[in-house]
Amino acid sequence: MASEYHNPFGIAQAQFDLAAEKLNLDQNLRAVLRVPQRELSVNFPVKHDDGSIKVYSGYRVQHNITRGPAKGGIRYHPSVNLDEVRALAMWMTWKCALVNIPYGGAKGGVIVDPKLLSMTELERLTRRYAAEISVIVGPERDIPAPDVGTNAQVMSWFMDTISMHRGYTVPAIVTGKPIEVGGSLGRVDATGHGVSVITREAAKHIGLRLEQAKVVVQGFGNVGSISAAQIGEMGARIVGLSDVSGGYYNRRGLDVHAMLDYIKQSPTKTLEGYHQTGTERLTNSELLEIECDILVPAALENQITGLNAGRIRTKLLIEAANGPTTPEADALLYDRGVLVVPDILANAGGVTVSYFEWVQGLQEFFWSEEEITERLDRIMVRSFASVLEIALREKISMRLAAYLVAVKRVAEATTIRGIYP
Ligand code: GLU
Repeated sequence: MASEYHNPFGIAQAQFDLAAEKLNLDQNLRAVLRVPQRELSVNFPVKHDDGSIKVYSGYRVQHNITRGPAKGGIRYHPSVNLDEVRALAMWMTWKCALVNIPYGGAKGGVIVDPKLLSMTELERLTRRYAAEISVIVGPERDIPAPDVGTNAQVMSWFMDTISMHRGYTVPAIVTGKPIEVGGSLGRVDATGHGVSVITREAAKHIGLRLEQAKVVVQGFGNVGSISAAQIGEMGARIVGLSDVSGGYYNRRGLDVHAMLDYIKQSPTKTLEGYHQTGTERLTNSELLEIECDILVPAALENQITGLNAGRIRTKLLIEAANGPTTPEADALLYDRGVLVVPDILANAGGVTVSYFEWVQGLQEFFWSEEEITERLDRIMVRSFASVLEIALREKISMRLAAYLVAVKRVAEATTIRGIYP
């Protein structure tokens, strides 16, 4: 799928360095912020249904906890590696600082293809991984959440495992839980909803009417599918979509709700075999190069690189995924006038509602869906406006503008707290 591989942690550090330079940040502070504070690697056995035992490897990285407890998802994917988890943890630090919620950044991952495991195997893997990383997580220390390959059920097993160890229920140990066990209304849709709000704001800024916009979404997991459905509901035409089975193109517009229904009953849980009159099949790289107004990468890192950035034909690039664009591609797109809304802004809706879930859980007082959506929308709109304002004033990309806000907040908190001892 990726057209070129770059080490995600190298990318995260390069993005940080650009901001640190522009902020003229003290060299000592740079040295502190450009590396993760804590990294835990675990190798653990899991019993498979046939009686065999396999040893899995996983990680939990806390990049920074200066502004509050570490926060970030857990990824189950075969390509997980320590540098990827480090990058994702660092991006969480900036994301939380940008939308100004009182968290640091973390990420976890297990090298596994969850599609190849039965439900019971997935449960055992989750419970054992939870036990292994239990030494560093906690409602006031580090709060996991879903990411690629994990969901509310996985969070529930994670929460139950920690609760069994402690002897009492600890709902605030994770976010993205099912509603039945203290999850928040609106959390499942939060990232995709935030992406659609940001898309609306970005379109307004460039004078693009959504009723006339052609949209391509790469990825059809939680974030891609909800982003596509909601951007479609705002009047835009979703002409291209993809998942692990490849790309689907229909110039008259894809029926996103039919695709969602299809995937629910598909034994492979993919779009493989989906038919709609006038729909063509494409490869993932062809999909990214479709001429459109709005391109929404909602899959993995390293999708838009120096190799294909010149062939991307969109006006807006909304990063629903974490790290889809390399710095080289960023520079090329900026020169070509493509407005890139960076991941730490575009997909911050998920962690924002995670924060609402954590607050509701700690207070044991729950809000209505309207309250949640209203607060989320306010944060997304305000964050977008302040980043855009800086980008226009300083004549810089929205990514650099977002980093200036985020890095400055974390740097100031570090300076005020001082270096221990
Ligand atoms: N995994 C999501 C992200 O990358 C959500 C993290 C969270 O809610 O803590 O932002």
